[in-house]
Amino acid sequence: MTEHGGDEREERSREERSWRERSELASERSERAVASAPPEGERESTGAAINVLGPPDARQVPRFAGPGTFARLPRLDEVSHADAAVLGVPFDSGTSYRPGARFGPEAIRAGSKLLRPYHLGLEVEPWTVIQLADAGDVSANPFNIMEAVSQIEAAANTLYGKADRIVALGGDHTVALPLLRAVHGRVGPVALIHFDAHLDTWDTYFGMPYTHGTPFRRASEEGLLALDHCAHVGVRNSVYARTDFDDDRRLGFATVSTLDVARGGIDAALDRLRERVGSHAVYISIDIDVLDPAHAPGTGTPEPGGLTTRELQLFLYGLADLPVVGADVVEVSPAYDHAQLTALAATSIVYDLLAIFTQ
Ligand code: MN
Ligand code: MN
Repeated sequence: MTEHGGDEREERSREERSWRERSELASERSERAVASAPPEGERESTGAAINVLGPPDARQVPRFAGPGTFARLPRLDEVSHADAAVLGVPFDSGTSYRPGARFGPEAIRAGSKLLRPYHLGLEVEPWTVIQLADAGDVSANPFNIMEAVSQIEAAANTLYGKADRIVALGGDHTVALPLLRAVHGRVGPVALIHFDAHLDTWDTYFGMPYTHGTPFRRASEEGLLALDHCAHVGVRNSVYARTDFDDDRRLGFATVSTLDVARGGIDAALDRLRERVGSHAVYISIDIDVLDPAHAPGTGTPEPGGLTTRELQLFLYGLADLPVVGADVVEVSPAYDHAQLTALAATSIVYDLLAIFTQ
């Protein structure tokens, strides 16, 4: 018995040893893979631009591992200069209904791990063609909207010293105003194409001028927009009054409603948009609530009857050859999301925007 028990113990200890060795070996192998994986931007088969640093190769580092940056791209401090940077703006104190978009950037980054190198719609590998990077998050005061707006503008201006273009991850729509101020400082007034269920050109809420329902009235008043060259896409359901649209036109906007899209089709809507923006520099601001709640339930002010994710993709591909100088994707509020539906939609839209930047 004793001898037999001794054998068992020895056998168990041998098995344990070999399991531990295997596991150590696997972990060493995985560390080596992370350290030595050729970034996707440097793979030979891609015809990559020289010296472009991309994400780790997902065939060597699983998508659910690796850096927590957008699409596992390098951090901005890992590259000398970025053609475009992703910037998180976790701020939602301008929200009028459901809060929670302060957690949007981390939800979008988490969803972005699934992105692959080749963009089918625009036939390009964004991170092999231009240097992309994640610039981290802005620190914005959650208790003082005016100060937060200044902080976001300052952060965007600082970032422009290191990156040519920014795709911002909101945050509620308040953040578009300081982002537009920073863009205006670089290129002057822009033609804004604003995808949203709502106009966001209202004057004040509870007497307050800086909220997520007012950024584009402020932007127009401040001269940041090319008057009569801006457009909303996806407006629907209800506004406060018919006269909202009179104000809106005066502020420089035309409206393509979801009903216009449903009745006239996307190509006709695209023709209108392209004619509208003319030859101006374009800024694209995308409130995720432009999508139907079936496609993006995780948002602060959901409105039934919205675009599908695929319709929004077609819009973006149709605008890809315009001179797009900046963009944001806002109002992702993960507490109301299900199975990452909204985060994944937002992720794919950010990917589309980065692909547009390569055009
Ligand atoms: Mn909205
Ligand atoms: Mn909005």
